[in-house]
Amino acid sequence: MAKWWGPKLAYDVIHQCLLCFGHGGYDRGPMEQRLRDVLGIQIGDGTAQIMKTIIARVRAGRKNVPA
Ligand SMILES: Cc1cc2nc3c(=O)[nH]c(=O)nc-3n(C[C@H](O)[C@H](O)[C@H](O)COP(=O)(O)OP(=O)(O)OC[C@H]3O[C@@H](n4cnc5c(N)ncnc54)[C@H](O)[C@@H]3O)c2cc1C
Repeated sequence: MAKWWGPKLAYDVIHQCLLCFGHGGYDRGPMEQRLRDVLGIQIGDGTAQIMKTIIARVRAGRKNVPA
């Protein structure tokens, strides 16, 4: 769950920073790039849905958690 939560928290924090700077945060500066970076972390190495499915299968058994 830490693997899911870390990138989600990073995304939420950077999103708030970007909004704080308004249009300047959206089209200039490093924040727009950082937001894309953390989006990539949320997809690469397994999306949250897949990670949660794997955890649920370990906890509840594969036959109880279909694909
Ligand atoms: C920045 C970045 C770096 C990457 N680096 C690497 C790398 O070094 N090596 C490498 O091999 N790959 C790499 N990838 C690819 C990455 O592993 C895949 O993008 C990732 O596994 C998701 O696969 P997909 O893009 O085909 O999405 P899909 O599998 O098509 O998923 C699309 C959506 O459907 C959902 N979904 C899919 N299946 C299910 C299911 N059974 N149940 C519920 N929801 C589901 C997903 O959660 C997602 O929201 C990278 C991707 C990114 C973005």
